[in-house]
Amino acid sequence: MANLAKNQELEVNVTDLTYEGLGVAKVDGFPLFIDNALPGETVRAHITKLQKQYGFAFTKEILKKSPDRVETKSRIYTQTGIAPLQHLSYPAQLTFKQHQIDELYKKQHLDIEVLPTIPSPQQTGYRDKAQVPVREVNGKLETGFFKRRSHVLVPITDFYIQDPAIDEAIVIVRDLLRKYNVPAYDEIHNGGVVRNVMVRRGHFTKMMMIVLVTRTRDLPHMAEIVSDITAALPEVASIILNFNPKRTNVILGSRSKTVWGQDYIEDDLLGSTFRISAQSFYQVNPEQTENLYKAAIDGAQLTGNETVIDAYSGIGTISLTMARHAKQVYGVEVVPEAVEDARVNAAANGIKNVTFKVGKAEDVMRTWRDQKLAADVLMVDPPRKGLAPEFTEAVGSMLPGRIVYVSCNPATLARDITALGEFGYKATQTQPVDMFPQTQHIESVTVLTRD
Ligand code: SAH
Repeated sequence: MANLAKNQELEVNVTDLTYEGLGVAKVDGFPLFIDNALPGETVRAHITKLQKQYGFAFTKEILKKSPDRVETKSRIYTQTGIAPLQHLSYPAQLTFKQHQIDELYKKQHLDIEVLPTIPSPQQTGYRDKAQVPVREVNGKLETGFFKRRSHVLVPITDFYIQDPAIDEAIVIVRDLLRKYNVPAYDEIHNGGVVRNVMVRRGHFTKMMMIVLVTRTRDLPHMAEIVSDITAALPEVASIILNFNPKRTNVILGSRSKTVWGQDYIEDDLLGSTFRISAQSFYQVNPEQTENLYKAAIDGAQLTGNETVIDAYSGIGTISLTMARHAKQVYGVEVVPEAVEDARVNAAANGIKNVTFKVGKAEDVMRTWRDQKLAADVLMVDPPRKGLAPEFTEAVGSMLPGRIVYVSCNPATLARDITALGEFGYKATQTQPVDMFPQTQHIESVTVLTRD
């Protein structure tokens, strides 16, 4: 370790930006990760924590400013991790994401061109879903967000990257919980009642769903709260209670009941209407989702004769869009409610050439392989942990002609491309699509083919 101490202040040159958006400066080779510092800047850093291999600091003063720095709206968006890249200009965020993928490829000796990131049509206020914690702060029920790496709630009413109509709904729900003296969840004693408020709003339909996640089976004053919510928010189409009694960081419990309206909301994408249940995944940046799906569908090069597997299919958004240009589509998804949504969505949009299976993609993929299902195109859109080794192994014996990989984590993408390389798959280009402006998250589309 360099000769450094906690609370020491020193002048450093920032040379890099981590995946999480922290500035990196090396002090005699020892890396310091610095909040609110950009490459090319010289800052006075205040050391907050030292470990063996690296340390953390915050920027006390900027001595030389990067041309990519922009005015930040509020420190709380960095503190909470809601918008860790808010101090970086939007064009620089797009380049940052392109370079992040490029670096990972270089480390793995992958020769793949990374194209410029497709910008998001909306750079703030884009999220169509919120899941905010409810806690008591100084004797008052508050909604907001946790400080990074903690469970300290920072009260927030403007969430900056969320649909403002969702922010407004959260404040209305907060005020009703206060009005009826409903206790906030108490994490330390696993006591209290309301843990989280989840709100989803169809970007094109304006239909809103409100989910109250409670530790107890019942919500005190439920009838009054429901009636007040519907009076205050005419867009609400669905109010759901979700029961989550456990000590856990997982937001939703497994049991839900609809206490008002429908079990789902609807939204439109690429000319189809989709029903979305509380437990189902749905892309959070609806305008940009259309660009993401267009890139995936273009990559599939469908002519109408293909058999397609859509793995990690969610509510069937990609499956149904591809079904219009393919012979047959098979979807697989682990959340049963999402598969139910997908089946209803297929029927409602008059699409017959698609079949959905509930299960783990790695299990169902092996079954399909054993049944000698021959896919021309394999579409994958896995969660952050990427493809399971069993999945990749099944791909290796099924050998679909073309794989379209939609990734939300470039580290597992690079790993999986390397693994698929064992079976002769190669990629030439990756197209990043910015689904998450102001944050470090990186979405991309890559096509792999065999020689
Ligand atoms: N393609 C869809 C969903 C992508 S998100 C869309 O664009 O909307 C990833 C999906 O994978 C989620 O719906 C999640 O429930 C599902 N999932 C996670 N692990 C899985 C697994 N092992 N097998 C199948 N599906 C899984």
